[in-house]
Amino acid sequence: MTHPRMAARLQGLGTTIFAEMSALALRTSSINLGQGFPDTDGPAPMLEAAVDAIRSGEHNQYPPGIGIAPLRHAVSEHQRRFYGLDFDPDTEVLVTAGATEAIAAALLALVEPGDEVIALEPYYDSYVACIAMAGGVRVPITLQAPDFRLDLDALRAAVTPRTKLLLINTPHNPTGTVLTPEELRAIAELACERDLLVVTDEVYEHLIYDDAPHIPLATFPGMRERTVTISGAGKTFAVTGWKIGWVCSTPELVTAVRTAKQFLTYVSGGPFQPAVAQALRFEDTYYDELRTSMQRKRDLLSSGLASLGLKVFVPGGTYFVTTDVRPLGYDDGVEFCRMLPERCGVVAIPHEVFYDDKAAGRPLVRWAFCKRDDVLTAAVDRLRNGLK
Ligand SMILES: *Cc1c(COP(=O)(O)O)cnc(C)c1O
Repeated sequence: MTHPRMAARLQGLGTTIFAEMSALALRTSSINLGQGFPDTDGPAPMLEAAVDAIRSGEHNQYPPGIGIAPLRHAVSEHQRRFYGLDFDPDTEVLVTAGATEAIAAALLALVEPGDEVIALEPYYDSYVACIAMAGGVRVPITLQAPDFRLDLDALRAAVTPRTKLLLINTPHNPTGTVLTPEELRAIAELACERDLLVVTDEVYEHLIYDDAPHIPLATFPGMRERTVTISGAGKTFAVTGWKIGWVCSTPELVTAVRTAKQFLTYVSGGPFQPAVAQALRFEDTYYDELRTSMQRKRDLLSSGLASLGLKVFVPGGTYFVTTDVRPLGYDDGVEFCRMLPERCGVVAIPHEVFYDDKAAGRPLVRWAFCKRDDVLTAAVDRLRNGLK
């Protein structure tokens, strides 16, 4: 129930599906493959650095509004090390309360009421809310099963004189699509030709499989000056509760985003900032092992779900795998996911809630594989028994 005088721009946003499904998981003692959070801790040296930062007494008060210098320098070094991108740590990097705040601040900073924002659906759930809170009009480009590729003709056709920005997410949650160099190039060319801003959410930049590279949109010609690149520590370092994110862009765009950000949280995560700075400088082996281990989990859950008869779309990135439930005789993923906890003791997330085009998402269900191997195996066993 919402108050009848709640602002119109929030009407229909409801409660996020993750809250509903995580509560259902608790009530039914289910294995939660719904919300995407790892069930093992992040790297010990990083955790120790956060503890030390608290104990030192030097990081428990407001950090600087743009984030502490060591973290901004570490983000800048990371962008150079992995992508050859140069960002001035003092003017072109901004630390935020998770990628979530970076997305909110970027949209509030750049979207005028009535501006059109083109976004890939299924959407990451905060996009819809943030576009609405900025007064923007969302224009979906649907990634269609079975391969969830970007329809470049549809993207070109969606641009109008009112289009302000493209909101891109690669690797893409929930489909696991990793945009190809050709798709990225086409987005870049379109953005330059139509003079669009681009906000790109790259929180899964280190969770890409089968030796595919992550290619930030900011690396394409003409894109450095029109792109707001967003990422964060939650996914890369298995600390989704820390909420340390960042923005990299031009001084002008960073200033715009900071102007909104300073009145949302002002600052956050003081003692986590030095710890994340240290983690970003981990050797390549950390990043390689993360990818290898997550790819193995992807394969474990994907083959398990396929063995149950579900149609599995093996993802190129992220820690989610999508299935079509129709081979099991269901045609509605929401119904399937509401039935699952009682019947099998497993929680998953229906895609449908992430679409404007409900029909496109109806039979699809998302499962998180950022869990211990024994948990993934137990989940598949429970499904096998319950779905019989
Ligand atoms: C998890 C996630 C975020 C949010 O990241 P936080 O740093 O936890 O705020 C943003 N975008 C996508 C696509 C995500 O999956």
